[in-house]
Amino acid sequence: MDAEILAVGTELLLGNIVNTNAQYLANELALLGINVLHQSVVGDNEARLVEALKLALSRSDIVITTGGLGPTGDDITRETIAKVLGRKLVRDEHSMEVIRDYFARSGRKMGPSNEKQAMLPEGCIVLQNDWGTAPGCVVEQDGKSVIMLPGPPREMAPLFRERVKPYLAKFSDGVIASINLREFGLPESTVQELLGDLMAGANPTLSPYAKEGEVQLRVTAKAATEDEALAICRPVAEETKKRLGNAYYGEDVDSMQQVVVQALRERQKKIALAESCTGGLTAARITEIPGSSDVFECGIVSYANRVKQALLDVRAKTLKDYGAVSEQTAVQMAEGVRVRAQADFGVGITGIAGPGGGTEEKPVGLVYVAVSDGKDCYVRRLLLGHSNSERAHIRYLSSSNALDM
Ligand code: ATP
Ligand code: MG
Repeated sequence: MDAEILAVGTELLLGNIVNTNAQYLANELALLGINVLHQSVVGDNEARLVEALKLALSRSDIVITTGGLGPTGDDITRETIAKVLGRKLVRDEHSMEVIRDYFARSGRKMGPSNEKQAMLPEGCIVLQNDWGTAPGCVVEQDGKSVIMLPGPPREMAPLFRERVKPYLAKFSDGVIASINLREFGLPESTVQELLGDLMAGANPTLSPYAKEGEVQLRVTAKAATEDEALAICRPVAEETKKRLGNAYYGEDVDSMQQVVVQALRERQKKIALAESCTGGLTAARITEIPGSSDVFECGIVSYANRVKQALLDVRAKTLKDYGAVSEQTAVQMAEGVRVRAQADFGVGITGIAGPGGGTEEKPVGLVYVAVSDGKDCYVRRLLLGHSNSERAHIRYLSSSNALDM
């Protein structure tokens, strides 16, 4: 079964909004084992919607549209699709009730245009919308299914999950399940060399996805049940972890900071940060995690040398002899903030994020990250600058290295 996603909305074409509906649906359909071979976007224009729909029907078994089901004049999806399929629009009494109810509950007045939303193609399967007013629907014709969903993601997603998924189950010849692994530090090319043979497999598949210094690896299998699919994934997942070694940091986790907070909590340890070039980015990432207050003591953004001295006890002589961007300064920042905050671990980050400020000796992208536990201090010297490196990228990778350490 091949599916196609057709997003309707001029604001998508203009770039005013991002087509997150297509991303959501593509991901969900893949998990159902339904191939998405095409995605398209069309504006709120009848002639072009007709054209896009005809093309979609000529090449895909399932066409899922999002958007244009609202009460306003530019919402034309329902009418246009009914026309293409040669169906009359008829009033669905149950949908009418639901819409009336919705307005009664929210204390708003219902206008005549809202009645339009209960007009659905004759003979369709109605997808009741408990999250908004416009019902979705499925029209089956000539062995194909056209599924119409509303545009707002907060309506579209639950409607898909609760109503469309059960409908699509009949097209799916198995369940897809995956295990997501994350690594930091190995470039994509190295990952490819380490795991190339595993990536050539068919069931499970192993696919890499590189993003901001990390490679995510998704092991996916298809089987009759989710448990069976996961059991097929397991050996490849374990082998992948083994080969990634120290670079591997988590299974089915959302972020490095999540793993850091969890690891600190398990050990009942507290952390404090002294950040210069990252400007608090690491602190922001750690405090994104609910419950981080159990492990996070403080973050100091010490940009000025005077502040590095006053708040972190970095020695004037160190700054004078080695400079603010040096191993020695990073170490003293880490140790200083650890002691001041009475934390178990202190982290110091200092570097040159650019675009200006680099010299031959200390180029843009030179960053020192130090982690102190009171006994030892570990330091990483990073060279993150290359031709296309940006300030934001250098800062992000610096903070990722701190989390990794
Ligand atoms: P409404 O009743 O809100 O008018 P609708 O089904 O007519 O719903 P649209 O008018 O096409 O949907 O879009 C309404 C809003 O939903 C858009 O302004 C946008 O915020 C969001 N939206 C629509 N399509 C998408 C999409 N493909 N991805 C992300 N958001 C979308
Ligand atoms: Mg609309």
